[in-house]
Amino acid sequence: MTSAGRPLPAVTEINRPYWTSGAEGIFRLQQCPDCARLIHPPALRCQYDHATPQWVELSGRGTVESWTVNHHPFYPGFPTPYVIAFVNPVEDSRVRVLTNLVDVDPDEISAGMPVRVTFEAGDDGDPSEVVWFPLFTAEC
Ligand SMILES: [Zn+2]
Repeated sequence: MTSAGRPLPAVTEINRPYWTSGAEGIFRLQQCPDCARLIHPPALRCQYDHATPQWVELSGRGTVESWTVNHHPFYPGFPTPYVIAFVNPVEDSRVRVLTNLVDVDPDEISAGMPVRVTFEAGDDGDPSEVVWFPLFTAEC
C-alpha cells in the first residue's frame, strides 16, 4: 500500500485512533464524557469543561458544511483537481472535520449534502504504522 503521494500525518498518542480506526472500517472521534460534545481535532481536554475525552465509534455519516476545489498541484503524485471540505458528523453538527470529498463531481456538491466516510490507506513503507485517511463520499 502506498499513500499515492498523499502526505502522511504525524501520528501521536493523542490522535492515533483518528488515523488508524479505518483499519476496522470505523470512524471514531473524541467525545467529552461531561458535556457530550464531539471534539476534533483530537485534544487532551474538552475546551469547555476540561474533562478528559473518550474515543467513540460514530456512524461515519455527515453533511458538507463548506468546500473548495483545489486545482494547484501542491504535491507530486496527488492529482488535481481535488475537493477540500469541512464535514459535520451527524452525531454533532458543531464539529468540523477537515477532509477530502472523493468520487464526487465538484459541480454536484452542495451545502448540507449527505456524505459518508470512506478510508484510504497510506504508509511510508513501515507496515506497522498504516494510516487510514478518513475521506468522505456522497451517500447513496
Ligand atoms: Zn465537555
